[in-house]
Amino acid sequence: MTATESKPRPRLPDWLRLPLPTTDTFTRTRSLLDNLKLHTVCESARCPNHWECWSKGTATFMIAGDRCTRACGFCAVTTAKPFALEVDEPARVAEATRRMRLKHIVITAVARDDLADGGADHFRRTVEAVRALSPKTVIEVLVPDFNDRDAAIETVLAANPDIFNHNLETVRRLTPSVRSRATYDRSLSVLRKVKACRRDSIYTKSGLMLGLGETEDEVLTALRDLRQVGCDILTLGQYLQPTLRHLPVIAFVSPETFAKLGERAWKMGFAHVASGPLVRSSYHADKFPHASQAG
Ligand code: SF4
Repeated sequence: MTATESKPRPRLPDWLRLPLPTTDTFTRTRSLLDNLKLHTVCESARCPNHWECWSKGTATFMIAGDRCTRACGFCAVTTAKPFALEVDEPARVAEATRRMRLKHIVITAVARDDLADGGADHFRRTVEAVRALSPKTVIEVLVPDFNDRDAAIETVLAANPDIFNHNLETVRRLTPSVRSRATYDRSLSVLRKVKACRRDSIYTKSGLMLGLGETEDEVLTALRDLRQVGCDILTLGQYLQPTLRHLPVIAFVSPETFAKLGERAWKMGFAHVASGPLVRSSYHADKFPHASQAG
């Protein structure tokens, strides 16, 4: 992998240049989310696929506010003192899911280290509200590490989500400089605990961003570590610098390298692998065929 130092931001390679489709569905998604006063990670994290997903009528809901108690070097979400949880937010997410007729929903949240349970009960209530209104919808939770607290993890699992997603984000060596108040082993521990208590009734999922200076061997080691804790689903995507205040892109990893790493991951036994420059944790999340058979 070659490295390119970049200030100002490097020119995007062709494979990362996207047409920005704005369809009627995009506009409908926009107004529905505004009407229901819902946050999305699509906007807060400046996801490059936001246009495509909303134009297809999908979105990743971000509950517990848009202010995070952490400040990861790659993330565009605002770091600030969070507001109180909105008690009716679970019902609003459920209503949006029903109106958007989502077959697969991803519910994520900022880190709420200010809350005793890290926001776990708010996740439980949101999953249960969605399940009540849309019993056939596959529910994926993309959660912070809850400081690896058993009670918080069990609270989320009590709502029986189909997929429990927690991102490793990067390789072990880079974790301290890339992630805030998180550790590589704590994230593995969260995934291990979920599999330990719900082996056959839930899929676990995790993802890494590439292009932050990691080596291919370090990525392969991280994939083996994820398989070691029973992780079923993997996403690998290109890191993109949200603003000049965030970590620089060290390398634009080629589509060929993503394909090669994806092949290696399939051979390691992941049940599903999405590996490509534009892949994000919840991008095309509904493409995982078996999700509806969990739980
Ligand atoms: S924990 Fe890190 S990645 Fe997650 S929302 Fe907060 S700053 Fe972003």
